[in-house]
Amino acid sequence: MIDTFERKIDYLRISVTDRCNLRCRYCMPAEGVPAVDHSQILSLEEVFRIARVAVALGVGKIRLTGGEPLVRKGLIPLIEKLCHLPQQPELTLTTNGLLLANQAQELKKAGLQRVNISLDTLHAERFEQMTRRPGLEKVLDGIRAAETAGLKPIKLNVVPIRGVNADEICDFARLTCDHDWQVRFIEFMPLSSGLDYAPESRFPAAEILAEVQKLGQLTPLERKGPAGPARLYKIQGAMGVVGVIPAVSDHFCAECNRLRLTADGQLRPCLFSDHEIDVRTALRRGCSDEELALLLRIGVKEKPQQHHINDENAVKPSLRRMQGIGG
Ligand code: SAM
Ligand code: SF4
Repeated sequence: MIDTFERKIDYLRISVTDRCNLRCRYCMPAEGVPAVDHSQILSLEEVFRIARVAVALGVGKIRLTGGEPLVRKGLIPLIEKLCHLPQQPELTLTTNGLLLANQAQELKKAGLQRVNISLDTLHAERFEQMTRRPGLEKVLDGIRAAETAGLKPIKLNVVPIRGVNADEICDFARLTCDHDWQVRFIEFMPLSSGLDYAPESRFPAAEILAEVQKLGQLTPLERKGPAGPARLYKIQGAMGVVGVIPAVSDHFCAECNRLRLTADGQLRPCLFSDHEIDVRTALRRGCSDEELALLLRIGVKEKPQQHHINDENAVKPSLRRMQGIGG
């Protein structure tokens, strides 16, 4: 599928649940977020149907996300079905890692290729402070289990927050020296209201790079194909790779190749815009695959050229938080 701005759209991020077992301060307010009624959440059969049609239209990569995708029951059969599609889409998942230790083998066996694990600190107390729940050890167990299961390469997502965990950038980057991992630093996106961190807490990509450079010479890696938004670097002699995602400071809209499907069946052409296309209502009306394909094509057609969140008078999206979109 090619959009209005000649971008090839071949990546679908599917949120399988709005529920989460953490309460990260950059994602949710202290009181949490009201859960969407179960009746509004797509069944996994409905999710599969949309994915099947999307793959037939040329989507070659699917990422399952949430909320926390591993709290959703029935995920393994969904993964098996997606992997058995004749087009064999690449299948990945983003998780906070809390439930990964018990599920890694099964996920791999079902056909999942890789996982991105979100982890913002290597200190147990700080973990509890940032996520409002204990659990660092479980996440570390989850990372080990994912590696043992062969969900490789392991990618860690880290959101550095000024005055909170930005002092750990070098500790995280150093992990790539001895592990064949990709450690990706994502700029904090201060999009939602009621978060504990002020917009000024964003630690910009340039400062992240300056921190990592303290560890040694950084070689930028050539971007091959649709490399995603991460700018990749290797520390001299390292086994793994450091990635920096300048989500706010240097938008990568010209390379955007993605659509997002929320857990309640809304297709979202842009992360930073509240505009959505209601797929659930069409599905539950008994629409045909052709009608579903048309809705997906409308989603592609309605992708904006770029986001404007850096503009002075920009209207911030207010409909959903990150947990409701899937990142
Ligand atoms: N619960 C899963 C997890 O945390 O990996 C999947 C959903 S979470 C919304 C997806 C990604 O969004 C995570 O890597 C998380 O760190 C990131 N994220 C959430 N809120 C963010 C924010 N305000 N700025 C930048 N990244 C954010
Ligand atoms: Fe944290 Fe992910 Fe849950 Fe948001 S959805 S609170 S980032 S674990």
